[in-house]
Amino acid sequence: MSLSERISRIKPSPTLAMNAKALSMRAAGIDVISFGVGEPDFDTPEHIREEAVRAMEEGFTRYTAVGGIPELKDAIIEKFRRDNNLNYERDEVMVSCGGKHVLYNLAQALLNPGDEVIIPAPYWVSYPPIVILAGADPVIVGTAETEDFKLSPELLDTAITPRTKLLILNSPSNPTGTVYTQSELEALAEVVLKHDIWVISDEIYEKLIFDDRPFYGIAQVSEEVKSRTFVINGVSKTYAMTGWRIGYAAGAREMIAGMTKIQSQSTSNPNSIAQKAAVAALNGPQDSIQAMIEAFDQRRKHLLQRLNAMTGVRCNAPGGAFYAFPNFSYYFNTKAQGTSINGSTELCEYLLDEARVALVPGIAFGDDNFIRFSYATGLETINKGLDRIEGALGKLV
Ligand code: PMP
Ligand code: GLU
Repeated sequence: MSLSERISRIKPSPTLAMNAKALSMRAAGIDVISFGVGEPDFDTPEHIREEAVRAMEEGFTRYTAVGGIPELKDAIIEKFRRDNNLNYERDEVMVSCGGKHVLYNLAQALLNPGDEVIIPAPYWVSYPPIVILAGADPVIVGTAETEDFKLSPELLDTAITPRTKLLILNSPSNPTGTVYTQSELEALAEVVLKHDIWVISDEIYEKLIFDDRPFYGIAQVSEEVKSRTFVINGVSKTYAMTGWRIGYAAGAREMIAGMTKIQSQSTSNPNSIAQKAAVAALNGPQDSIQAMIEAFDQRRKHLLQRLNAMTGVRCNAPGGAFYAFPNFSYYFNTKAQGTSINGSTELCEYLLDEARVALVPGIAFGDDNFIRFSYATGLETINKGLDRIEGALGKLV
């Protein structure tokens, strides 16, 4: 049997693969501590779950409009107006089966073979494969740890060629937690306008920002920039709803129509019950977010302090999301029981086998010197995991 050529160009999601591995080790009775997959460890708030139950009981269990029910589109429009000062009409927003699916639809609707897409590294694992599946070419632009992993206007300008179609920005970032400021985004927007390219602004971690920093998205810079930008967001992270699969996009109506056409021929509408729950999430009380931020912030500070106290490890303070991205390259070119550790994959494999701690290697995010920690787990578990890591690192020679 020969699979399509396109399938051979991508690998399965490494974050989901690590999650599957940790889960199967646990199922086999092995006590694994997971800093692997990025999903909040909180329950979906009660009023959201109740709305889903109501939807089911009322028989809201049939196909809906492909791009989302009007009620949810209106809740999304209101969210953009309230939180981001952005105005959209119903035909400029659409709902898909998670933020990942929104990105997939958008890449399919926007990109042609030969188009280049600029992706600053470290990047979220799924951006390059989504671009490749659309037949386009990812252009990875490395950023510096010393610049807090930020793309500068100069780096962007240099990476743009006549084939460049799109830039993917993600703030707060997975995996680094980097948050761009208004003035940094204004400077990037100038380059975007100069070269007339499109922008995806992946704002899925918008609400998970620490130290009372304001969130600012590039579409807010001006009407002109907004018209070149697709804002991606969803309920997965903000409302601890990863399993419900609701994400949304806002942007140019022609592209939204194209994405809706693709969705009509692939998944049809996102789950009807989850759409009702998402309305309750966006329109209902928002206090669960604050409680989540406080818990994440406490863990963030603790993890950061302990990582930076480890021999040879250094970690920038993440400004948002729930990831830390420490540099572990000090441990490369060491050996454990005869096996040499030359990069982040081998180090993560060693830590899983020796310390029973699941982590995602930095190479999956485009930088081999780092390891990603998802701290969506309790303080006690974090401490236990770090103790184990320290013990295992101490055995490397
Ligand atoms: N963008 C980023 C940066 C993410 O980390 C995630 C999390 N998986 C997504 C998009 C997609 O989230 P989901 O599909 O769960 O809505
Ligand atoms: N975004 C999360 C992560 O990076 C969820 C897994 C995924 O969809 O990749 O771990």
